[in-house]
Amino acid sequence: MLKIDVLTIFPEFFGQVFDFGIIRRAKLAEIVEINVHDLRDYAFDKHRMVDDRPFGGGDGMVLKCEPIFAAIENLIGTSERSEYPALTHVVLLSPQGKPFKQTDAQAFADDAKHIVMICGRYEGVDERVNETLVTDEISIGDYVLSGGEPAAIVIADSIVRLLPNALGSDTSAENDSFSDGLLDCPHYTRPANFRGMSVPEVLLNGNHAEIGKWRSIKALEKTRANRSDLLTGENGEM
Ligand code: SAH
Repeated sequence: MLKIDVLTIFPEFFGQVFDFGIIRRAKLAEIVEINVHDLRDYAFDKHRMVDDRPFGGGDGMVLKCEPIFAAIENLIGTSERSEYPALTHVVLLSPQGKPFKQTDAQAFADDAKHIVMICGRYEGVDERVNETLVTDEISIGDYVLSGGEPAAIVIADSIVRLLPNALGSDTSAENDSFSDGLLDCPHYTRPANFRGMSVPEVLLNGNHAEIGKWRSIKALEKTRANRSDLLTGENGEM
């Protein structure tokens, strides 16, 4: 079973996000356990301070080291990175991180046993956390969020649906976008004719070889139109 722990100053933010669909089923089937922890529970000074002003001046606040180190010691048993149990990852969500790709989600789903995700806020997290505790500094895209929480949800979701048996027998991730380096093909369902818009004829004729061919062509067309970087290998990953 994969264990995911999320460290945040806004635990309520997560509400019921992990209680629907594939993730809910995976939790019930004990394929994954997800726990959200309040960083403030690890702030031991009398004001339970988790942030402070940046050295060197400038705007905003920075999340402090002490509560994060204490939380990692509690959740992993050590804050010595070299002593983390095998297949343990400490992820820092950060726009400065390595861009997260489907191949990364797959690698975590294949191998990880324990993932702790640290959600930054304000100007970010004291860099000593990154320098000494973090194994993976990850960005979900080239834009800046107000906190790491939405990124933690994105990453947890994309990993959990790839865990063995999470999708159930009626669905599979094999044809999903990115799994073969292309986007997925378009999908249609009933009615075959809706307000004068009809479904491509080939999908209705039951000829699976032809349908397969049509889907490959459409996947390629869609990739060329929306994500030509996937075809030229410009994003370096696929
Ligand atoms: N000053 C920082 C941005 C801080 S945003 C900078 O310019 O790099 C506050 C927090 O939101 C970050 O600490 C991080 O945890 C989260 N965050 C913002 N954008 C993100 C992204 N693209 N991917 C992952 N986490 C992000």
